Amino acid sequence: MKKVAIIAQTKEGQLSDTSIQLISFLSSFSPESILLVAMGEVKFASIPASKSVDVITLSEGLWTDSSAINPLVNAVEGYAVFGIKSIQVDNLLSLLAASSSQEMISGIQQMSFSGGKFSISKSIFSGKASLSLTSETVGYFSLNRNFDFSGNAEYGEQSVGSMSTLTTAAGGKASILELKPITGSIPLPDATLVVGAGRGFKDPGNWTIVEDLAKALGAATACSKPVSDLNWRPHHEHVGQTGVKISPNLYIACGISGAIQHLAGVNGSRIIVVINNDPEAAFFKHADYGIVGDVNDILPRLTKKLQEHLN
Ligand SMILES: Cc1cc2nc3c(=O)[nH]c(=O)nc-3n(C[C@H](O)[C@H](O)[C@H](O)COP(=O)(O)OP(=O)(O)OC[C@H]3O[C@@H](n4cnc5c(N)ncnc54)[C@H](O)[C@@H]3O)c2cc1C
Repeated sequence: MKKVAIIAQTKEGQLSDTSIQLISFLSSFSPESILLVAMGEVKFASIPASKSVDVITLSEGLWTDSSAINPLVNAVEGYAVFGIKSIQVDNLLSLLAASSSQEMISGIQQMSFSGGKFSISKSIFSGKASLSLTSETVGYFSLNRNFDFSGNAEYGEQSVGSMSTLTTAAGGKASILELKPITGSIPLPDATLVVGAGRGFKDPGNWTIVEDLAKALGAATACSKPVSDLNWRPHHEHVGQTGVKISPNLYIACGISGAIQHLAGVNGSRIIVVINNDPEAAFFKHADYGIVGDVNDILPRLTKKLQEHLN
């Protein structure tokens, strides 16, 4: 493979764990060159690679304004451009794909490289089925947040290599406009950890224990549709067929029955933990781990244990 570029968001100068895994994963394909397109300031110490990584940092204007995209289109010409799914990364990938009339493949769950082509498995129909396809090594690729990195034997054995910094451009084609670290809470579709709560909580006043657990984990909060219909929680937290689709590494569903419409929005989660006081609740059939018990009892205990463990 010739050239790979990774589009990655940063927080306080750090790349996310999944972006670091992606750099490592793509390094294992032995590309000719690796370009990191950072959506914000990036500290070089946070980039692991066995070979040199060129870096372009972008200002916010460049990823929201289609008229400002051309320098970046030129900078990544001839590259296979990857990103881990988030609202901003997907927006930028689609802008780039449209501007360069290239193919964009999203929802990628697994990927390997052989015979000069990518073999890709991507989820379709809200995660109920998967599609296998092969692709050329130039284009735009959006990987699901729970992308399977297990095929990458080299992961974990990378060393920090030499790095060059492109302060103005790859070959003078792109320039830094401004550095703006991303601030604020994580949008639900981008969250890697989510605590969801349903009608089992009975009253909006009982959400403190959900928020406490989410805070202890650093997770986003979600809810079932009836909960947002009752105005117990804001509508942007509603997950499911008619709400937000999430694909975190961990989804803890508390006091939620597991109706098919709810599952349609959460079945992309890598690990599902269900807490419900009804051992017959449908959600247990779709759970990796289940706890039969009262949320009012289990959640505070879980939060306390996590706080003890993490502090
Ligand atoms: C067209 C259509 C679209 C829909 N879209 C969505 C959607 O996008 N998202 C969505 O979520 N729903 C959607 N629904 C609604 C869906 O069918 C279910 O009605 C809904 O998901 C149920 O929400 P719930 O599990 O919070 O509530 P319930 O069904 O009332 O379940 C509450 C659960 O809490 C448990 N419980 C009660 N007390 C406790 C306790 N103290 N401790 C532990 N557990 C307890 C109960 O055993 C039960 O399993 C849709 C429905 C339709 C018809």
